[in-house]
Amino acid sequence: MPIPLPVLRVALPVPLPRLFGYLPPPGAEAGAVAVGQRLRVPFGQREVCGVVVGHGEAEPGVELRAALEILDDGPLLHGELLASLRWLAGYLHAPLGEVLATALPASLRRGEPLPDIARHGWVLNEAGRTALPAMRAGKPKALAALLAEARGEDWLDDASPGWRTPLRGLRERGLVERVVPEEKVGSESPFRGKGDSDPTFSPNAEQQLAIDAIRAADGFAPFLLDGVTGSGKTEVYLQAIADCLARGKQALVLVPEIGLTPQALARFRARLGVPVHALHSGLNDGERAAAWWAAASGQARVVVGTRSAIFVPLPEAGLVVVDEEHDGSYKQFDGIRYHARDFAIVRARALGVPIVLGSATPSLETLHNAQAGRYAHLRLRQRAGAAQPPRVRVLDVRKRPLQAGLSEDALGAIRSALDAGGQVLVFRNRRGYAPVLLCHDCGWSAHCPRCSTEDKPTPMTVHAHGKRLQCHHCGYRKPSPPACPDCASLALQPQGNGTERIEEELGARFSDVPVLRIDRGSTGHRDALQKHFDALGARPGVLIGTQMLAKGHDLPNLTLVVVVGIDEGLFSADFRSGEKLAQLLVQVAGRAGRADKPGEVLLQTHHPEHPLLQTLVGGGYHAFAEAELAMRELAGFPPFAHLALLRAEAKHADPPLRFLHEAKEALREFPVDASGPLPAPMPRRAGYQRAQLILSAPQRRDLHAALDALVPTLYASPEARRVRWSLDVDPVDL
Ligand code: ADP
Ligand code: ZN
Ligand code: ZN
Repeated sequence: MPIPLPVLRVALPVPLPRLFGYLPPPGAEAGAVAVGQRLRVPFGQREVCGVVVGHGEAEPGVELRAALEILDDGPLLHGELLASLRWLAGYLHAPLGEVLATALPASLRRGEPLPDIARHGWVLNEAGRTALPAMRAGKPKALAALLAEARGEDWLDDASPGWRTPLRGLRERGLVERVVPEEKVGSESPFRGKGDSDPTFSPNAEQQLAIDAIRAADGFAPFLLDGVTGSGKTEVYLQAIADCLARGKQALVLVPEIGLTPQALARFRARLGVPVHALHSGLNDGERAAAWWAAASGQARVVVGTRSAIFVPLPEAGLVVVDEEHDGSYKQFDGIRYHARDFAIVRARALGVPIVLGSATPSLETLHNAQAGRYAHLRLRQRAGAAQPPRVRVLDVRKRPLQAGLSEDALGAIRSALDAGGQVLVFRNRRGYAPVLLCHDCGWSAHCPRCSTEDKPTPMTVHAHGKRLQCHHCGYRKPSPPACPDCASLALQPQGNGTERIEEELGARFSDVPVLRIDRGSTGHRDALQKHFDALGARPGVLIGTQMLAKGHDLPNLTLVVVVGIDEGLFSADFRSGEKLAQLLVQVAGRAGRADKPGEVLLQTHHPEHPLLQTLVGGGYHAFAEAELAMRELAGFPPFAHLALLRAEAKHADPPLRFLHEAKEALREFPVDASGPLPAPMPRRAGYQRAQLILSAPQRRDLHAALDALVPTLYASPEARRVRWSLDVDPVDL
């Protein structure tokens, strides 16, 4: 009997639901390669980077290729993280190799070496000391003065954000040198973060109850920290994190994509006095890999990051926090469609640590879990300190004249707020100048040639004061036509109001104060947002913005919030649209009156009697949530049912429908409800025809048993080769 060859089982980032066997690279023993190490392997004509997930034996008669190279000295994905990722792949019915690739930072996924994460210090050398007195005032001189004493990079991150740029200049001039920081204990060390800004207040009774409950947790314990905006949830996180650090453990904090401002990071760094690593989309690949590896090696004690930070290894985990747990940015919308909050729960359980989900507007899923007793429900009902809840008024604008979508009442309220020295936020969740360009003579309107919604072509949004048209679904843009393409009339009129048009109107009307527009068109980067706020300072002024402005920023002088254009959200077909609108309204309203000034919120609508507005204004978010949960239960929607969305698209409409019909047929024997195939809500996007099948079951395990049977047949189906398909488990958008 020949002795079977030992082989490595490797997960590769390819869309196939299986592992691949490889012989170890020449000269290496299979047994010497550990689970979790990366390998470079030949795959077809290409070379790809994969992760070893097991060992096995070659099957007789199967020709195996040898791996080319072992990329790491030790495992990267192993222990709890690998086990949780295996669970995730099973849950999403996605190939393990693609899930592992998603979990790795891009540079590691490509097979690049682990980054050097040693934290250095910097000090002026002889030449620097001589040059310092004669240097011109400016950033280089200020940094040089700090570096008269050796300073660690952590300390510099705190004390002098952006220090790396002037440092480069000083290095080029040969004025500084690198030193290895000695470990000094205590917050005074010039190598550590400062950690010296204790709050000037002590926690109130509700905060203290929450802090004590989290402190008392032993092992896995999920908490919902349900606290109104401004109730001091961050203070609870900070104290829980400080406890976790005092026990020698690491903490992971997830924040929404637009919540992670330099402001928020600075607050964490200033308080905690340990290395706080950020992980978000504003970093380059090298910085992301460094933060990931710093967590893996235990150097990072606190990681604050957006969605993908849920994939950091936490060898010494002590606590997980998910801030604004209801936020839509936790769900990944393409590739591996995971939900970072849900996966955070899975990881906290596997790690055996407490997890805190915080929000002023908890998702209905999370509220339901709290009500069912699965999560401890901690409530902060009052705003912290002296801040008062804002007064909310519904403005009925039926039959009222509107200027750029704003009623006389709203404009008058803005004038009064400004005259009283306050700041005003006008919220309109629609970018651009106007949503539609219409020919007043013949009725023609501008549409995207590549997209359509509910079988109607999608209107193109008017931008740049009427000069440009842009599709918000596929990004297609073109100049506005000089005349109507159908009738040659010059009477082309922008219809409706986007943030640009509101800016134009308010800029002209309130020309005595700054009027600033804040949306993705005007403010690409998160630092730019801060610059806008800094430029405004404490002066009276008007901010006009989209969702970007709805959260995360403390604007102490904001006394009035005007919300316009909510009516379209009141009548959307998506079963989650009510929840999303209620959350948005409460979060936007929460911007008003954050400090000692009382705030007011005006909701402008043509439907003042709409039940959502009535319940929300009369009873608050929890009254709304009660009503909405009751409705979901009746209608059989989540959290009372579990959904999966199978989508397919192709250049022609037929193949997606055939593919989905076949899938539906395969599910006949299972206790799941399959609705469709139907055109997707955007049946044509960027030139592709899209259709979908919605699967639903009251019991999660029934849905998953059906998917376990279905998914392998999808991969094997000849119809699958004619379409691009995707499966979304627990979809957020239908
Ligand atoms: P949330 O995240 O719940 O919206 P924050 O944590 O941002 O609220 O707190 C709002 C403000 O209240 C912050 O300026 C914070 O410093 C302050 N604050 C928090 N707790 C207290 C307290 N116990 N007493 C006074 N002020 C507090
Ligand atoms: Zn016309
Ligand atoms: Zn388009």
